[in-house]
Amino acid sequence: MQQNASRDLYDRALSVLPGGVNSPVRASQPYPAFIERGDGAHVIDADGNRYIDYVAGYGPVLLGHDLPERVIAAIQSQVSDGPMYGAPTEVEVELAEFIARHVPSIEMLRFVNSGTEATTAAVRLARGYTGRDKIVVMQGGYHGAQETTLVEGDESEVTPSSPGVPAAFASHTIPVPFNDETAIEQVFEEHGEEIAAVLTEPILGNRGIVMPREGYHERLRELTEDHGALLIFDEVMTGFRVGGLGCAQSHFGIDPDLTTLAKVIGGGFPIGAIGGKAEIMEGFTPAGDVFEAGTFSGHPVAMTAGLETLRYAAEENVYESLADLGDQLRSGLVDIVADQAPTYTVTGIDSMFKVIFTRDGQPQDGDCTAGCRQDPGCQRGGDCPQNAADVEAAATDRWERVFYHRMREEGVLLTPNQFESQFLTAAHTEADVEETLEAYKSVL
Ligand code: PMP
Repeated sequence: MQQNASRDLYDRALSVLPGGVNSPVRASQPYPAFIERGDGAHVIDADGNRYIDYVAGYGPVLLGHDLPERVIAAIQSQVSDGPMYGAPTEVEVELAEFIARHVPSIEMLRFVNSGTEATTAAVRLARGYTGRDKIVVMQGGYHGAQETTLVEGDESEVTPSSPGVPAAFASHTIPVPFNDETAIEQVFEEHGEEIAAVLTEPILGNRGIVMPREGYHERLRELTEDHGALLIFDEVMTGFRVGGLGCAQSHFGIDPDLTTLAKVIGGGFPIGAIGGKAEIMEGFTPAGDVFEAGTFSGHPVAMTAGLETLRYAAEENVYESLADLGDQLRSGLVDIVADQAPTYTVTGIDSMFKVIFTRDGQPQDGDCTAGCRQDPGCQRGGDCPQNAADVEAAATDRWERVFYHRMREEGVLLTPNQFESQFLTAAHTEADVEETLEAYKSVL
């Protein structure tokens, strides 16, 4: 496989961009594929190599790399009218109305420019609303590059996970293991009066994928309600990807107080949003006094791209076909794993999928045919990875250093490590899935 052009670009990039990239996960070893263009479900790199793309921009790319004509036309029209004004526009009202109409827990929204901004503002709002400081997060959960959540450890000892984050900030965050009801019950017993919010992804999408055990989110809802804390669902990744237009919270039947969104709702442009109950949302300035602001917030081009993407997804039943394709891919992977790597786990839901390189039990059976649901009701449920630590115990080096590169040679571009979810788009076809399964078959 020819990679000289990507290598040379990386060489140049190393002189002007720290680590050669603008976001660390992109720096796969020995150097990343520099992408020149997209084509439907494919991307083509600087050396002309063509891949079936499952990175999908790390989630935002829902419709594939060729946007539908009407989405392109709306974006172009907005650009030619001037990209932004620093004043309110109708399109931001329309996008807010669309989201509020489809996500039952969301009555009002504030648009920002990234998932990180969304979770930062949601945490500030929760602290302002409750008058409390502590935030409970899940170990291995990811909420962006922000001070409150860049922590590691557990309730007994929390430290910043990055230099530059003051230990005093980390001391307000309590990480608990995902799916462990006893752990979070104890945290509420000890700190119930000080906890402003529990902030969690509904599905761990940055460490796995790990699905919630039945009843876990319900328990989080009860605990937060009983102690006057907020439940914040970080749906930056799952929003308008899992559970269709109602998002993952509708799939699980949970009514969080606040939700953070980003990725898909911008149709491929930078965006973020905090949504939730009006009573809480009106804490934001200028309605309330929890300060939040942004020059680019509600950017008309991102609003237009997001609105037209979501309208298209709703009208063309994109979520149904994506879920079917996801089931086809995951059940094909289950067969391959059962045959060739019975200690591995196939996981995911709707258009998210991953093979985790660990599992305690024996080969898959009928219970797992649409991918492992990490469901305790399944006779093999207890063998599945249940939290971030389980996934970290997987064969992560093999994944990153051997498997990822071999898949690339087979023309399949995955996310470059064991932890980040992979995504189908509306542009993927059954033929792409078959080709992908052949690649897994020859590489696993
Ligand atoms: N929350 C979750 C659940 C995410 O997956 C991510 C990004 N992968 C973020 C927050 C941060 O979003 P952004 O990269 O847009 O800042």
